[in-house]
Amino acid sequence: MHSAAIVEAKACFMVLKSFIEYPLECNPADQQFGSSQSSTHKRYAYPDPPPLDPISTYPTDHRPLQFFSFRAIGSSSYRRAEPNCWTVSTSDVQYADIPDGRSFLGVPRHYRHSILVLQRAVKNWNSHQKLKFCVNFGDIVDGFCPKEESLTAVKGVVKEFDNFNGPSYHMLGNHCLYNLPRKTLIELLRIPSLNGHAYYDFSPIPEFRFVVLDGYDISAIGWPQDHPNSFEAMKVLQTKNPNAEKNSPMGMEGLERRYLMFNGAVGKEQLEWLDGVLRDSSMHGQKVIVCCHLPLDPGASSPEALMWNYDEVMDVIHRYKCVKACLAGHDHKGGYSVDSHGVHHRVLEAALECPPGTDAYGHIDVYHDRLSLSGRDKAQPLVIRHGGT
Ligand SMILES: [Zn+2]
Repeated sequence: MHSAAIVEAKACFMVLKSFIEYPLECNPADQQFGSSQSSTHKRYAYPDPPPLDPISTYPTDHRPLQFFSFRAIGSSSYRRAEPNCWTVSTSDVQYADIPDGRSFLGVPRHYRHSILVLQRAVKNWNSHQKLKFCVNFGDIVDGFCPKEESLTAVKGVVKEFDNFNGPSYHMLGNHCLYNLPRKTLIELLRIPSLNGHAYYDFSPIPEFRFVVLDGYDISAIGWPQDHPNSFEAMKVLQTKNPNAEKNSPMGMEGLERRYLMFNGAVGKEQLEWLDGVLRDSSMHGQKVIVCCHLPLDPGASSPEALMWNYDEVMDVIHRYKCVKACLAGHDHKGGYSVDSHGVHHRVLEAALECPPGTDAYGHIDVYHDRLSLSGRDKAQPLVIRHGGT
């Protein structure tokens, strides 16, 4: 079904990257992308050109990617270059009208510049034809934004997204929830919602479905303190995190370090909804891209940024073969991995940490059998081969 539409369907990712380099935190053995790797998990490799992986390639002279859009090109359309379906996405803009600062790791943060980066990106995207929709991966405003300015700040960033010639799809991040109540954010960000939940799906072209997860479904932030989801989240934190300060991973080991207050979980009802969406997608032969503020694979993320129950979510995803990639934000340095079932995980770097005056653009072509990310300037390609089934 949809064969004519599938063949003609095209979409495009845009890539906006900064020129800041981050220290590597991965095992040197993981800085190779060759097929000799015993693990399917791969981390960034900045310093030296690696051998190309037969399945995936990743930039060596990589600069973090903040904004991108994508285009999907049908199997018979490889040699044609007139996409009719474009998307764009951003992660961790974390705008605030405050002076520059640094993360707790010392990475510079440019709170005012991030919105300029977004403006330039939107201007560029609008100069392209057939740009179709935009995805924002959360943390639209920074937690340091003065509370009395939060509403104005969020409205300002949403307005920039609205300057884009197409609809914007947003999701909740922890910084959003530090500033404003969940209910207010859902309205401002026009998130399709039932009973305060913020998960939904949409199908930009017949052969693809995007699933947007609410990683703060079970969370100690955002819900009223007497909400059952707040209680459930606090119970998790009390059980799993021995520290009085629940944002501290002190003394915690390995993946247990994800049980921090600034993370969250997907609840039982949402897991059942996800299962139904993926079942339906499989029945209709759709390929699925899962989007969430929180990363879902330890190979692509620091343990401290992982979703609490990433394993339960991935168990649902792995029941089906339709999910080709999981995209996320939150872990500002970014990451990439392929999990044990061949699902690709890409964590986008933060727009917030793009130094003033720097930005660059690229795109990801979505073919029937692969996603091909290429960037302008110094960005190197990433090809995610998913086989087309
Ligand atoms: Zn975040």
